Amino acid sequence: MQLNMKIRDRLSLQFTLMFSVVLLVLLVSIYLLVEHNRKKSFYDKLEDRATTTAQFYLAEDNLSEENFSKVLRNYPRSLARESIRIYNDRYQPAFIREDSVKWNKEVIRRVITEKHIHFEENELQVAGLYYEDNSGNFSVIAAAYDMNGLEHMKELRWIMLLGYGCSLLITYLLGRIFARIALSPISRIISNVRIIRASSLDKRLHINKGKRDEITELSTTINNLLEHLEQSFEAQRSFIANASHELRTPISSIIGEAEITLMQDRQTQEYKTTLHNVIEDATRLNAIINSLLELVQANIDSNELQPVRLDELLWEAADEWGNKGAIGKVTLHYHAFNNPQKVTIQGNRYLLFIALGNIIKNAIKFSGKKEVHCELDVTTDNIIITVRDQGIGIPQSDLHKIFQPFYRSANAITYTGFGIGLSLAEKIVRLHNGKIEVSSVLGQGTEFRLLFPV
Ligand code: ADP
Repeated sequence: MQLNMKIRDRLSLQFTLMFSVVLLVLLVSIYLLVEHNRKKSFYDKLEDRATTTAQFYLAEDNLSEENFSKVLRNYPRSLARESIRIYNDRYQPAFIREDSVKWNKEVIRRVITEKHIHFEENELQVAGLYYEDNSGNFSVIAAAYDMNGLEHMKELRWIMLLGYGCSLLITYLLGRIFARIALSPISRIISNVRIIRASSLDKRLHINKGKRDEITELSTTINNLLEHLEQSFEAQRSFIANASHELRTPISSIIGEAEITLMQDRQTQEYKTTLHNVIEDATRLNAIINSLLELVQANIDSNELQPVRLDELLWEAADEWGNKGAIGKVTLHYHAFNNPQKVTIQGNRYLLFIALGNIIKNAIKFSGKKEVHCELDVTTDNIIITVRDQGIGIPQSDLHKIFQPFYRSANAITYTGFGIGLSLAEKIVRLHNGKIEVSSVLGQGTEFRLLFPV
């Protein structure tokens, strides 16, 4: 079957094929049954005629005149190509002369031994009877061509063939109609999906609420896919807008500053100040580009995987950004676990350190150096690292956006940063099959939870 055939055509063809096999089996069975009955009734007829003939010749003396004429009346007409022969036990023809129809000894011997035989020879049906009479025993062999019966069988064959052809045609056409009706929702989905473009990703397929069939499931799946597409398109668009804004700001500042300074001759101190500002802007630009590169390059090669003890990692990160770096105060709490193996995952230590560092740095930065509390916990499914601060918090409406590159909440604008740290942390945790959860109360504090599957 052609591969590029439409489902509708394929369905109707398969349906027709199935039906044709069933119908063929049915028709052939009926035909064989009718043919069997035809043969049987013709043999019966032949036997009757053989008996009657035998009676005619052998038992004429035993029959009353009246009975004998009754017998003859029963069989007024002869059959097509009919022949009846009578043989005595010495294989000699009796009463009826043999002409073109002769039976050999073998056939007569079978009649004598089996008493009762049927067979077919050259389109003729043959019935043999052994007739025992007081005037001697005789083999009566009747043969004839069942013209009527075979004529009827021929008609039946034609009717069946015609009926078969018509049924298949009707089935195919009906199959096509039903397939079209059954597939019409899919055609509708196809034409609806066709008009959705990148610019109209907000469009959704209509879903019939009352129904819970495969079509509804397909539409829901496509709608979910569109939802994801729309979100990632949106994220990409805002990423490009934000990235170009973040990159342009320091560049415009550098150009502006240089141009203004060059407008007239200045004191050495003024040149120095300008150059300092230029360095500051260039450093910021450098930092942004570096973190963008980190974001793009953060990937895990399975060869680089190594066992990483999360308790050690947390201690190091807390020490680096809290206590040792004296940026803020970080307290640690490890919930009881008896086996270091339980807090060990396969991962990239360097990347994990960056991810955890970014979250701890944020907690310190956005809480005005109030104490930050970190915990490590092991459940049956996850190893959980919690970083809790008592800082400015995040508005509920921004909670799902803060992981987008360059996104910064309105209340964070006065703090340094450019909004890449969390996207990088989220990507790294995701690369380790984990996830980040966040909950926050505005003005009171934020809690980040890093979950790594056990
Ligand atoms: P950056 O810290 O450079 O602004 P991040 O990607 O690290 O960028 O964070 C994105 C945004 O998420 C921040 O601008 C801030 O609005 C919010 N945020 C992250 N961590 C905290 C926190 N601990 N408390 C309050 N807001 C936070």
